[in-house]
Amino acid sequence: MAKDYYAILGVEKNASDEDIKKAFRKLALKYHPDKNPGDKNAEEKFKEINEAYQVLSDPQKRAQYDQFGTVDFNGQGGFGGFDASGFGGFGGFEGFSDIFGDIFGDVFGGRRQKHGPQRGADLEYNLDLTFEEAAFGVKKDIEIFRYETCEKCHGTGAKPGTTPKTCPKCNGTGQIKMQRNTPFGSFVNVTTCDRCYGEGRIIETPCPDCGGKGKIRKKKIISINIPAGVDTGNTIPLRGEGEKGLKGGPPGDLYINIRVKPHKLFQRKGFDIICETPVSFIKAILGGEITIPTLEGEEKYTISPGTQPGTIVKLKGKGITRIRGTGRGDLFAELKVEIPKKLTDKQKELLQKLAAEFGEDTKESKKSFVDKFKDAFGG
Ligand SMILES: [Zn+2]
Ligand SMILES: [Zn+2]
Repeated sequence: MAKDYYAILGVEKNASDEDIKKAFRKLALKYHPDKNPGDKNAEEKFKEINEAYQVLSDPQKRAQYDQFGTVDFNGQGGFGGFDASGFGGFGGFEGFSDIFGDIFGDVFGGRRQKHGPQRGADLEYNLDLTFEEAAFGVKKDIEIFRYETCEKCHGTGAKPGTTPKTCPKCNGTGQIKMQRNTPFGSFVNVTTCDRCYGEGRIIETPCPDCGGKGKIRKKKIISINIPAGVDTGNTIPLRGEGEKGLKGGPPGDLYINIRVKPHKLFQRKGFDIICETPVSFIKAILGGEITIPTLEGEEKYTISPGTQPGTIVKLKGKGITRIRGTGRGDLFAELKVEIPKKLTDKQKELLQKLAAEFGEDTKESKKSFVDKFKDAFGG
């Protein structure tokens, strides 16, 4: 089972971002390795706190954790079986140093500077599944468009045989520093270099394939194993399958948004299935064997005599696989007693005899119902 990140940070499941941050700071300061040199337990605890914070402080990861109980689809406790064949799979967490850097830039002052490597953008993909695919899981190949490194210039953006030049205006720093002297002292004003747009280099002869961008938008096919039990609104993250990072930064993630198409017979409620099952009025009265549709085909079920319309029959374990935990939900069949719309003369005669047996008056009235209604209410 996955770790309980809320318990690790000692916060409630509905804790606000601020509460989570506060709890984290308190614990991180207590178990920080600098404060507990050589203490293995403190070190483990510290790592755990970081892991919990990494997830709960990120709205997307937190939502996913709340929903699936994990954010690491490779690991134990998740639903496993996920892979992005041949594309490096799910990276799970970024390295610990990364987490450390992220958090401690913030907690211990001195925020990390934004220049340098930049993470690639996240991508989204809306994936439509049939009811059965969502119920049983499915392997899907999806097509996405994303920027790939230009093969012609290997990402430099310069025409092969040429090299980008260091920007003469900023000497490759990408920044222009200007000193301003004012009556209150002198200030250094830093702006992005307008010659190279902060790149620090200039491409004089751009690569003909990518136009100097160093990247080309390409179609990519990614295979995903969709686990059994997903539902509309679920999002499956594919770590590192988003856009490439800049300046050596990590790639973004690809988020697969699941949308399940409605089914002709079945409706879904969590992991249970609800369906209407027609029953003839004779069978409802006398009892007998009926047929209930399930995801695996029809199933026989015996109803007792005098079964009432709207009776709900439960078929245990015939629902949808629980994405968290084990087993399947149930199937609830609501019995719809069908009244025949047309009768033969013989059937009519027999029913009238039956009615007489029940002491019921079945003589057809000369007045229509509407007329009777008018008589009664003067309308
Ligand atoms: Zn190129
Ligand atoms: Zn420049």
